[in-house]
Amino acid sequence: METEINSMTSRQRVLAALSREPVDRTPVCNPTSVATVELMDLVDAPFPAANREPELMARLAATGYTELGFDTIMPVFSIIQESSALGCKIQWEQKDNWPTVKMMEPIYEDVDDINIPSDLLTHQDTKCVLDAIKILKKEYGDEVAVIGKTMGPWSLGYHCFGVEPFLLMSLDDPDKTLHCLDKLKKVTIDFGVAQIDAGADALTLPDHATGDLVSGDYYRRYLRDLHIEFVDSIPIPLILHICGRTVDRMDYIAQTGMSAFHYDSKNKPQESIEITQERISLVGNINNPETLFARGPEEVRQEVYSNLDAGIQLVGPECAIPLQTAIENLVEIPKAVQDWHSERAAQN
Ligand SMILES: [Zn+2]
Repeated sequence: METEINSMTSRQRVLAALSREPVDRTPVCNPTSVATVELMDLVDAPFPAANREPELMARLAATGYTELGFDTIMPVFSIIQESSALGCKIQWEQKDNWPTVKMMEPIYEDVDDINIPSDLLTHQDTKCVLDAIKILKKEYGDEVAVIGKTMGPWSLGYHCFGVEPFLLMSLDDPDKTLHCLDKLKKVTIDFGVAQIDAGADALTLPDHATGDLVSGDYYRRYLRDLHIEFVDSIPIPLILHICGRTVDRMDYIAQTGMSAFHYDSKNKPQESIEITQERISLVGNINNPETLFARGPEEVRQEVYSNLDAGIQLVGPECAIPLQTAIENLVEIPKAVQDWHSERAAQN
C-alpha cells in the first residue's frame, strides 16, 4: 500500500494525505503559522511588516520549508487580514506579537450593519495575502504545498461584533445569529476563491467555535451546514481549524466533507481518530504552550510518535505557534517523522 519513503514531493504528499490516499511518509503540515522571532531575524522579515507586505510575508513563510523542513508553506500568519479589510480596527503590534482586532471597538451592532466593502479583495491586507501566495506558488509551487487561509463566519462575527456581544446574540436570538453568519459567509467564500485563483493548493478555514466557549450542539446548529456549503463553494481541499477540546463535535465535523480537521492537543490522537474514522483527515496535534514552547526535542518526538502510532494523516503544531518557539523543537517534528517511518520499514 505504501510507496518507498521519500519518493513523493512535499506537495504530492500533502495533497494525498488530505484525501486519505497512500503516501510515502506522513507529511508535516502547518495549517496555521510557524513564524517565529528567530525566523524573522534569519530572513529579515519581521512582524508587523511581514503581515502587510507580500514580499516579506512570502519570505518569512518560505522558512517553514527551507529552514524547518515542513511539507507546507503557509503565509497567513494572523487571523485578522480580512477583518482589517472589513474595517475592523487593528492593533498591529511589533515583532514579538501577533496583530489583533481591537475588540473593544466593534464595527457592527446589528445584522443590518453587515456590509461587505467592494474593496474586500483589493484592500492592502487581503491583497497582501493574494500576492504572497502568487510569489510562493511561482517559487515553490511544484515541490511544496502552499496553504492559504480564509476565516469562517463565526470568527468574523467575533471580530466585527466583539466576542461577548456575538455570543450573547447567539443565546438571545438564534435566527438573527444565523442571518449574520449567512451574510458574513460571503467574505469566507470570496477570499477563499481569490486564494485559489492566486495559486493556493489548500486552505485553512478557522472558525473559532472553540471548545471552551461553545458546545458541540452549537456547532451542529450554527455551523455544520455552512461548513458543508463551503466545501461546494470553495472548490479546493479545506482544513477546518477549531481550538480546544472538540471531541463532542468531531462527528459533526466529519460529516461536512472538509478534507481535514486541524485538531488541538486537548484531544487525544486515538480517541479523535476513532470518532472521525477516515471520513476526514486529522492534522496536528503537537502541543504549543507546553511542548513546543517550554520543553525540548525529546518531548516533541514523543508527541509526534503518538500521532503516528494512532494513524493521524498529517502531523504538525496544534495551532499558530508561540513566536518565541525554538527552531530546535520545530525541526524535531520532521526528523521524528522520518525516524518513525524508517523504524517501521526496518521492522517489516
Ligand atoms: Zn487555534
